[in-house]
Amino acid sequence: MISRRKTRQVKVGEVLIGGDAPVAVQSMTSGYTHDIDACVREINKLAAAGADIVRVAVPEKKDTLALKEILGQVSVPIVADVHFHFQRALEAVEAGVHKIRLNPGNINDRKQVEAVIDACRERHIPIRVGVNEGSIVERRDKQKRMKELGAVFSDSRHGHLLAIMITKLEEYLDIFYERHFYDIVISAKSIDPLLVIDAYTEISRRFDHPLHLGVTHAGPKETGSIRSVVPLGTLLANGIGDTIRISYANDPIYEVQDGLELLYVLGLRTRKGAELIACPTCGRIQVDLFTLVQDVNRKLKEQITLPIKVAVMGCVVNGPGECEGADVAIFAGDKRGIIYVQGEKVANVPEEQILDALLEQCRKFQEKVQRGEARLGEKLVDIIPPDPLGELGSGYAKIAAGKMESGEVKLPIVQG
Ligand code: SF4
Repeated sequence: MISRRKTRQVKVGEVLIGGDAPVAVQSMTSGYTHDIDACVREINKLAAAGADIVRVAVPEKKDTLALKEILGQVSVPIVADVHFHFQRALEAVEAGVHKIRLNPGNINDRKQVEAVIDACRERHIPIRVGVNEGSIVERRDKQKRMKELGAVFSDSRHGHLLAIMITKLEEYLDIFYERHFYDIVISAKSIDPLLVIDAYTEISRRFDHPLHLGVTHAGPKETGSIRSVVPLGTLLANGIGDTIRISYANDPIYEVQDGLELLYVLGLRTRKGAELIACPTCGRIQVDLFTLVQDVNRKLKEQITLPIKVAVMGCVVNGPGECEGADVAIFAGDKRGIIYVQGEKVANVPEEQILDALLEQCRKFQEKVQRGEARLGEKLVDIIPPDPLGELGSGYAKIAAGKMESGEVKLPIVQG
């Protein structure tokens, strides 16, 4: 169990962030906010995928004018992402938005910030103060600032830059504190994963506001996932972080899916739907496992709502051991697959029937759980009975003797 750092809770619409609330997953629309129908479609799609909160850009007045109509057609809280023009924040508040994001790098006129704070206080709307490495003004004069501030964080990998981000944040938050406004969420994003870890770690020591974790401009999903998950996972595992946004140069639906998966694997959220474990295959494989895994993954999403653990293993060698912990498991052999449900062998079918048979067992097991006749994860170890492969035993001796390669050894066919 990860012990989470306690933060001061804020309320974004109906979603709580910080305190003992579950870590919330956020995403951001990629289209124009003033294109109301498309914006609503995108928000609802993200919400259906599991996003708790969705942010929209409001660069122009036509965007904030669209908010009221958008808010009436969506079910998740909406955050207005404001840069450069403080009036957009006031207009968004007026429209009924649930949170404002301000960037100290481009809205820093004290009177303007105070106007936004006062408007948000009146409507009980929290503000995220988002310091981005890329948009802190002083970065342009890095050398000078380094001399002034670097010593403060001289033991850090990122010294001056971290110092600038923290100092900027402290100066900005002073405006909020002077007006006794504490419904604040903080973010300090960077493209550099190590700076992200350092920045949030340092901020978590200095402030008790909830933290919105993210890596800015992480890039395409293929590389951006690693760039994001390493720092976010590190911070979350250390109990730091109250809401996350993974950002990809791709359909934001992937941000939600990957954000949720990160929280699931860390045990920070209760999984919705099945969890699929699968082997990577190797030279021992005797079925088309990649296709099978893709098909199983897709169908489980459609058919299973409970967090059933499903294992798809390619062979009899490591399959049994690696299936441990699965509620429903299949391990394949010579163009066949044996299916187990919580330790009990229920089927042995030819390859072309594996998908349907496995899904049928998953559905049946789900129904049993729903009827209260079985419990998830109840029988963790006994996926495989003592000698699941008949004459093969564990399989190791036969394989070592070269019998697997020679095709002499087949899975026993069990009527089931
Ligand atoms: S389960 Fe079998 S096929 Fe899959 S990786 Fe392990 S040894 Fe290879």
